[in-house]
Amino acid sequence: MDISLYQSEIQKLIQDIQESRGKDPKRTIASCKELEQYGLSRNDNALIGFSRFSLGETYYLMNDTTNFYREMIMCLEPLKAIKEWGYLTMANNMLGIMSLNRGNAPFAMDYYMQAIHYCQEYQLPDLEWVVHMNLGNLYLNIGDPDSAIESFEVGYQYINNHPHTDNYISTLTAACIGLGKAYLQMNEVNVADEFNHRLLRECMPKLVPMEKLVVYCFEARLYNEQGRKDECLDCIKQIRESFNEEVPILDVFDDFYDYLKMLLEIQRYDDFSEMLFLMEGSTKHTGIRNLEKKLLVLKLKRYKAIGDLESYQQAAVKFFELDQLMDQETGMMIANTIELRSRLNELANITREVENANRALQMKSETDALTGMNNRLKLSEYADEAFLRSMNHQKGFAIEIMDIDYFKEYNDNYGHQDGDRCIKFVAKCIMALQAHEGVFCARYGGDEFVIIYEGYTDKEVFDIAKELKESILKSKFEHKYSKVDLKILTISQGIFWSIPERGQSPWNYLHAADTLLYKVKKKSRNSIMLGHKLDGIDDEIITEEGEV
Ligand code: GH3
Ligand code: MG
Repeated sequence: MDISLYQSEIQKLIQDIQESRGKDPKRTIASCKELEQYGLSRNDNALIGFSRFSLGETYYLMNDTTNFYREMIMCLEPLKAIKEWGYLTMANNMLGIMSLNRGNAPFAMDYYMQAIHYCQEYQLPDLEWVVHMNLGNLYLNIGDPDSAIESFEVGYQYINNHPHTDNYISTLTAACIGLGKAYLQMNEVNVADEFNHRLLRECMPKLVPMEKLVVYCFEARLYNEQGRKDECLDCIKQIRESFNEEVPILDVFDDFYDYLKMLLEIQRYDDFSEMLFLMEGSTKHTGIRNLEKKLLVLKLKRYKAIGDLESYQQAAVKFFELDQLMDQETGMMIANTIELRSRLNELANITREVENANRALQMKSETDALTGMNNRLKLSEYADEAFLRSMNHQKGFAIEIMDIDYFKEYNDNYGHQDGDRCIKFVAKCIMALQAHEGVFCARYGGDEFVIIYEGYTDKEVFDIAKELKESILKSKFEHKYSKVDLKILTISQGIFWSIPERGQSPWNYLHAADTLLYKVKKKSRNSIMLGHKLDGIDDEIITEEGEV
């Protein structure tokens, strides 16, 4: 985002958001809301998108789901309008993580796919691997380790090829654990072990105690599978000693959930209960009922295993209540998302209507009202483009001016309305020429029209011009007051043809064509003249004189 475009007050707001994000949520939220209002008053999508994205990100870190969804979904359209693919990727990525935490894997999948699409379409490899890592976790969650491996591999390869990336060790750890867990899910213990070797060798010495916890969770499960009992017990001991409330539970929930399942399997009920108690405390804090419910399922399994029927029944009632609350929550989340999406659709429709109206207005300003032909404005734009093209390709370029003979007499005698009809008739005949590729027509004004020929030789242009003359003659459009003996409608045509050179402009051609038309009118109407030389010296003019 180029903040230098904004006045200093707005620059200060943006800087304030950038400095306080992730540290001072209250301050970030206040600044974002102010910036959003300013953006809305100016219709500035960059400011609206950026402020909503930052708000969403702040609510994400605060675990405030409702506000998070509202802001993150509302930032998508403005960010799309300004083609901020990086922010769009991050927004979809966060929407994916939040949806998965809430137990809504299909929503999460949709968001991740959208994020990956942006990364691939707009070449954002530095973000793409991050999304793949999250997608890997989703696949693990839904029990599809094959797909999880594919996704984690993207992150693993990226980090192997970019050893100087920020957080290299943390990322390598996440990739190794992801792949290790996927191979464990597939019962490929030896492959999982290879990733553990890398963890032990490269990551463990550099990780802080908190980060080591997830590695222990994975190792405990691996050693258990391998029958390495002492090493497994050692991991359990390490976890017991290091786990505390400071653990960022949302980042590590899945790892500890799998670890708890293992404790249950190997019937270490005391360790299980102690760990479950600690996790319940941290999870409650997040207010995410899906996670509470997952823990409750493990608790139920435990009561069942030890035959504690009373506790089992109490927990079952709690499970039922939680389930109902979650259903309501999910319903609200879906309704909220649907409502926001339909509001965005409405907005998109309004934008489309405005765009259509603008396009119609543009067409109108480029079209002659009487004939529906291109007008002078469009002619000027087209002539410049076509002239440049012909100059670059060194191809023939011609401009013709044609004018109805004795039209004043027609108008004065038949009346203005019939005059209009006559102009419309001629316009139709001229427009038929546009069936030839590279032929463009416009009404120049009154009874004068301009035709541009691109990519033809002088002879070819002359033939097309004759085609027009003949089509008008053939129609025998009555003009009793014409001074041409035929007493039908005739036209006069002046054409200038050449291969454009640097330093010339289409207006030189138009002027030359006008001079030729003037000559035709003076010499004999119902004729064509085609010239080649701007100065007119020694020009071999091609002419066709019609009956006068
Ligand atoms: P020439 O053969 O030399 O071209 O003679 P002319 O009678 O055609 O003369 P000129 O081109 O000067 O006449 C153009 C006339 O076209 C003058 C004006 O009254 C009429 N005119 C211009 N615009 C319109 C229009 O939009 N509708 C109608 N009906 N008449 C128009
Ligand atoms: Mg005329």
